[in-house]
Amino acid sequence: MGTIELIFASSNPDKKKEFEDILGEAFKILSLSDIEFKLPLPEESGKTYVENAHLKAEFVGLHTQRLCFADDSGLEVEALNNEPGIHSARYEGLSRPEDLRQRILQKLGAEPNRKARFVCVIALYLPQELSCMSFSGKVDGALTTEESGAKGFGYDPLFVPDSYNRTFAELDPQEKNLISHRAHASRLMLKYLLKNQ
Ligand code: IMP
Repeated sequence: MGTIELIFASSNPDKKKEFEDILGEAFKILSLSDIEFKLPLPEESGKTYVENAHLKAEFVGLHTQRLCFADDSGLEVEALNNEPGIHSARYEGLSRPEDLRQRILQKLGAEPNRKARFVCVIALYLPQELSCMSFSGKVDGALTTEESGAKGFGYDPLFVPDSYNRTFAELDPQEKNLISHRAHASRLMLKYLLKNQ
């Protein structure tokens, strides 16, 4: 476990677990409850991943004046004009992961173009600068016609990364965390922090 403390400005335990797997060697990831941060996070009212990630990281950073980060992520489906995108957590009035997955499958129907990608933007709040830097990552793949696998979270049972024949929900977490959008963005942040902190 690393010794540099990094606050994760989110209340999503699935994402925290993945960030711990990816960054845990170098950093100790603290959740908002670990630091007894009780204020509600701002609404994700931005129009881009960058804006939404900055909103969350800046809010917690300005209140704590500590090194902290937030991510905003989503699934972009080519045949659906890159929807649900930044609306991936709440889309067309739905928010339960199983409902969201079924809605995407329904909307795609028998569409032969199953291309999709996951995107992640991390905003890192730097207390010395009183501002954020961002790092982005993506992973390309294709959507299945039915759900497969029970690991992971969100849209994982629908997404097969390129050069694989199993969904993210069928891969072991260590495999997903090597190639995911979150892993790519995290590695850029890691490189920056190791060079600059
Ligand atoms: P947000 O970043 O909190 O706005 O939520 C993004 C939403 O995108 C999540 O609630 C998931 O539905 C979806 N998502 C983001 N990353 C992943 C992933 O790695 N696997 C599956 N779904 C994801």
